[in-house]
Amino acid sequence: MIQIAVVSGKGGTGKTTISASLAFLFDKKSLVMADCDVDAPNLHLILKPEIKQKIDYYGGKKAVIYKDQCIKCGVCEQVCRFDAIYTDEEGMYYVDKYACEGCNACVIACPVDAIELVEERSGEYYLSVSKEREIMVTHALLEPGEETSGGLVAEVRKLAIEKAKEEKKDVIVIDGAPGIGCPASSSITGVSYVLIVTEPTMSGLHDLKRIVELTRQFRRPFSVVINKYDVNVEMSKKIEEYCENEEIDILGKIPFDEDVVKANVFGLPVVEYSDGRASREIKNIFNKLTERVFKRRS
Ligand code: SF4
Ligand code: SF4
Repeated sequence: MIQIAVVSGKGGTGKTTISASLAFLFDKKSLVMADCDVDAPNLHLILKPEIKQKIDYYGGKKAVIYKDQCIKCGVCEQVCRFDAIYTDEEGMYYVDKYACEGCNACVIACPVDAIELVEERSGEYYLSVSKEREIMVTHALLEPGEETSGGLVAEVRKLAIEKAKEEKKDVIVIDGAPGIGCPASSSITGVSYVLIVTEPTMSGLHDLKRIVELTRQFRRPFSVVINKYDVNVEMSKKIEEYCENEEIDILGKIPFDEDVVKANVFGLPVVEYSDGRASREIKNIFNKLTERVFKRRS
C-alpha cells in the first residue's frame, strides 16, 4: 500500500489545495483520503464527507476531585506544577481539565483518596464517504480547547489503513498536520513518500528547513513544491538554491492563479474547476509524483 503525506512547516501554504486535487487525480477506486490536520481540518469543504462511523477519541487521563470525599486540605493545589487546581468562593477544590497534564502527583498526595485520574474524551474521528468524489475519507475533530494531538492523527491514519486493506485500496493520501510537532511527526511516520509544500517568504523558507529536517529524521523520501512561486520570485530563487545545496528535488512550482481562490469559493479542487496555470502545474506534479512513488515500489 502506498501512503503519500502532503505536509508543510506551517498552515496556510496551500497544502490542502494540493491534497484535494490529488483526491480528484488519483483513480477513486484505489484511493482513501486521510485528513490529519485535526486542529483545523478543511479538506471536508471540498470532499463533503458524509459520516458513516463515529469513534470517540480519549487522548489521556485527567484528574477529578470527588467533592464529597475532599477535606479541603489544599495539598493537591500545592503539589500541582501545572496550576491546574483552583478553589471557588466556598473553598471547594476543582481541576481545570485544560491545564491538567494527568501527572498523577495530586492523586498520590491527597490524604483521603479524593482524587482519581479518569479517561477524558478529547475528540472524535470518523469514517466518511465523500459525496463529491465517492471515496473513503477518514478525519477528526478535537473538542474545543483541546491541544492538537499526535495520538488522534495516528488514529485517523490507522482507520484509513484498516479500511484501505478491507476494501483493497492501495493508495492513501494524507493531508498532514502542519508544523513540526507531534501531529506532524504522526502524519509522516512510515509513509511511502512526503510532499512538502512551501511558499516564497522568509518564514516559508525557515519552516521548510525545519520540516525537511523532520522528514530526514524519519528517513522518508520527499520532494518540495513551491506554491505561488511567482508572488516573490527572489524568495523562490532562495528556496531553489537551498534545495539545490541540500540535493532536494523540486517537484513543481505552482504559479499564483485566481482560479484557486474561485475554486475554493465553489468548494471544488482547482483541477476540477479549471485548466488554468495552477491546475496544469498540479497535474504535472501529480504525474511526477506517481512516477516517483510507483517506480520506488516496483
Ligand atoms: S494530575 Fe497532575 S497536572 Fe493534573 S491536577 Fe493533578 S497534579 Fe495537576
Ligand atoms: S488533597 Fe484531596 S482532600 Fe486535600 S484539597 Fe485536594 S482533593 Fe481535597
